[in-house]
Amino acid sequence: MRFLNSPRPIRSVLVANRGEIAVRIMHTCKRLGIRTIAVYSDADERAMHVRAADEAIRIGPAPARSSYLDMAAILAAAGRSGADAVHPGYGFLSENAAFARRCEQAGLIFVGPSADAVEKMGSKIESKRIAEAAGVPVVPGYHGAAQDSASLLQAAQRIGFPVLIKASAGGGGRGMRRVDRAEEFEEALASAKAEALSAFGDESVLLEKFILNPRHLEVQLAGDRLGGLVHLFERDCSVQRNNQKVLEEAPAPNLPDAVRRTLFDAALSLGRAIGYDSAGTIEFIMEQGSNSPYFLEMNTRLQVEHPVTELITGIDLVEWQLLAAAGEPLPLGQDRIVQRGHAIEARITAERADRAFQPVTGDLTAVEPPRGLRFDSGVAAGSRIGLYYDSLLAKLVAHGGDRAEALARLADGLAELTLLGLPTTQAFLRDAVRHPLFADGKATTRFIETAFPGGWQPQADTLRRLRAAAVVRWAEPETADRGSDWVSPWNRRSAVRVTTAVRPARVSLHVADDYGSAEAELRVGQDRIVVELDGAAVEFPRSRAKADPLAGFVHRRHGDAVAVAHAGLALTATLLPRIDMPRAAGQLDRSGNVVDAPLHGVVSKLYVAVGDAVEKGTPVLQMEAMKLVHTLKAPLAGRIQSIRCAEGDTVPAGAVLVEISPEAAEEKR
Ligand code: ADP
Repeated sequence: MRFLNSPRPIRSVLVANRGEIAVRIMHTCKRLGIRTIAVYSDADERAMHVRAADEAIRIGPAPARSSYLDMAAILAAAGRSGADAVHPGYGFLSENAAFARRCEQAGLIFVGPSADAVEKMGSKIESKRIAEAAGVPVVPGYHGAAQDSASLLQAAQRIGFPVLIKASAGGGGRGMRRVDRAEEFEEALASAKAEALSAFGDESVLLEKFILNPRHLEVQLAGDRLGGLVHLFERDCSVQRNNQKVLEEAPAPNLPDAVRRTLFDAALSLGRAIGYDSAGTIEFIMEQGSNSPYFLEMNTRLQVEHPVTELITGIDLVEWQLLAAAGEPLPLGQDRIVQRGHAIEARITAERADRAFQPVTGDLTAVEPPRGLRFDSGVAAGSRIGLYYDSLLAKLVAHGGDRAEALARLADGLAELTLLGLPTTQAFLRDAVRHPLFADGKATTRFIETAFPGGWQPQADTLRRLRAAAVVRWAEPETADRGSDWVSPWNRRSAVRVTTAVRPARVSLHVADDYGSAEAELRVGQDRIVVELDGAAVEFPRSRAKADPLAGFVHRRHGDAVAVAHAGLALTATLLPRIDMPRAAGQLDRSGNVVDAPLHGVVSKLYVAVGDAVEKGTPVLQMEAMKLVHTLKAPLAGRIQSIRCAEGDTVPAGAVLVEISPEAAEEKR
């Protein structure tokens, strides 16, 4: 075993994380013969990372604060399991200097850089000062000590709008607000600070000039405890939603070599300035076409997107982190690190790409990765996706001899992958990678709004075919006899058979799914099955041979619900025969004077009381879900008529939280 003779031997590693990254870290540990210990919260008792480990220890209840962020609980677990080292993954405690210190004090090896480096780079304010001192250009802005709103507003005016308010301790796109006009500054500052305080326990902010059409570029660094420091080339992570990465690739497309060299030099000087001794990433932002990158921040940990670098260099970054932590030298010098081909990663999240990427919760009923691509996943069939942690399910990563090949492989993989049970971003990602702007390597951080003006929607044709397939699957006899009568609605043990056992074979259905609803009519003919959906016909072959009319579709039925997937899009449809369909299928007719929960989450703050007068747009309450804070505003002017929730309540999506009486507004006038 490789690490036994190291200056600091590592025989076992406790992975202080969950999901895909915990599984991925354990994978390398296993290969190196290192014992793995998982920690888990009550929500993760049956999670994949728990099953992947040699040993698993419960550390607390579901909320991250009481489990994955609870240092004492994690250190106790490390003590109990006899772990030599702790790998923090990304997120959670990975950039918490106090945690790194407490690990070392407890005699545990922290698999990451020195606590000092974590501390310096953990503050965007401090890291910018260090970067400036190292001669690295930073985004123009304000990163001073004054934090009162008058000074900050003044600084914003000096910088010139639009400006970006950022939480100094921020990460994951949280605590960030774009401000276009001075009048909006105060409110944006308050909400950025509130989000920063709740997410990071630190409300200090900095201001940056908002760059209108930027590319996000970053350099992977790797260092050791003996003074070795190399770069592992750059990545382009411009495609983002809510300032969080969605697609990442290496190398960056259409990047002049001179800019590439500037990036490497800047990253190495900053790394050297802080004596960096582990894997880390220096992030830059660059106005499209300007050729002058600015330092943005440093992440002193493994990045979500590290696999693209691994695929082009053949280096296992977790192994290099472990080697550095064990006091070993880097295995390769700069001149022996070469890149081959191109790699692209797609982050698949439990989100509604068609609804501004709102996170969703639910159970995955099928997870079937495509063959031949790297699939870093934290989920399997049966996984429950709750609201406690972030929405990343898995990453699909393709490598090719060149960018076109990697792109084609990723697009095919996104079509082949099957995820059933809840809406994911898979179909959106497939459309995104095939969009000419991305395919040409010209994406900036505004890619999504540019490529899908008005928001992404599933392709109408695919959606129709999926719904039609769901109808056919629904009509399949319970004992699927693939013989002559494979599809025959009146073989079904349901009300339909009784009431529609007349010829010709016709069944009318109401189909409701994640993306809306449609009226369907199913007709079974001699050699084909026709499903008419809102007037458009979709045909399936029907033969006496064993040919499957639903070839090419993945489908599962659970009672009257059918989950289907095809070409990267998946949905779960509920089918109701129209004859005995209950009216209005659960749709409440809301008159537009309520504030309802846009997603399953926790009501964190109420700004109004019954009887308060509100204008259209007045903030009414704040909700938190999946680590994001949402401010819900009054949809119209009026008076608060009732409040149906309290601070701290967990509410389901669609729950009516506040009612507003519009009459009051008229009385006012
Ligand atoms: P976080 O630590 O929350 O990830 P970053 O500072 O790394 O925050 O920025 C995340 C993303 O936000 C960037 O990749 C970019 O898309 C956007 N962003 C950050 N700073 C600016 C800026 N000054 N102008 C425009 N966009 C920015």
